[in-house]
Amino acid sequence: MPEGDTVYLAAQRLDRALAGQILRKTDFRVPRFATSDVSGHTVEEVVPRGKHLFLRMSGGWTLHTHFMMDGEWHLYRPGERWRGPGWQARVVLTTDDWVAVGWRLPVVELMRREDEARVTDHLGPDPLGDDWDAGEALRRLTADPERSVSAALLDQSVMAGPGNVYRCELCFLRGLDPWSRVGDLAAPDKLVDLTKRLLEANRGSGRRVTTGDPRRGHELWVYGRRGQPCRRCGTPIRRRDGDPSTGSADDERVTYWCPNCQPSPGRD
Ligand SMILES: [Zn+2]
Repeated sequence: MPEGDTVYLAAQRLDRALAGQILRKTDFRVPRFATSDVSGHTVEEVVPRGKHLFLRMSGGWTLHTHFMMDGEWHLYRPGERWRGPGWQARVVLTTDDWVAVGWRLPVVELMRREDEARVTDHLGPDPLGDDWDAGEALRRLTADPERSVSAALLDQSVMAGPGNVYRCELCFLRGLDPWSRVGDLAAPDKLVDLTKRLLEANRGSGRRVTTGDPRRGHELWVYGRRGQPCRRCGTPIRRRDGDPSTGSADDERVTYWCPNCQPSPGRD
């Protein structure tokens, strides 16, 4: 699932490939922009902001995309076979050297550059951004003490970037019951610092490693490990489906945790 580090890496790859290239053909396969055409414009840069990606081009145009659950961008050489069915492509950008295909992107939007702020205004500080502000992230995290730590970590207006994998891993690393209240956090500043360090450690790697062990199957503490022994105490990792705050079954809110390493506040 895409999180801030994934989007950062995708932006970096697209920027390296496309910056300075003229768009020879553009194909928007979403109803709203089906007839739009920005061919002839030069790609200036591709920048990430949280889970949003902005491809800026000459003439003041920006292509805004959001990855949501399983979107991705692929780069192909002209004529190369696509790794995916064509009907899942939402946007295709062709230059002399590359064909960039955005797959399953729920948000594909052509906008003026000055309107980017409309998208990013609600976002909290981005741990991978140049304008990261730990104090502001802490203020937003602790603004509602009644909220669960889980809900606050997933809220992109608190911090822009971390998603469900990081939420589960952060709670484990801090020994927190995912459903504990923000107001009960002993050191919320440490949670903010760890969020930034984890995202930074994985920036640009294309992998998501929270254990420090990049070997396959060793990368994560709890996420995706239901029933397997906790790497610290051996207790079977548990999984709960659905949004912990609303009870709705939403795949993005699957929670993994170690009941022994992450005791609920009332239990000890
Ligand atoms: Zn444990």
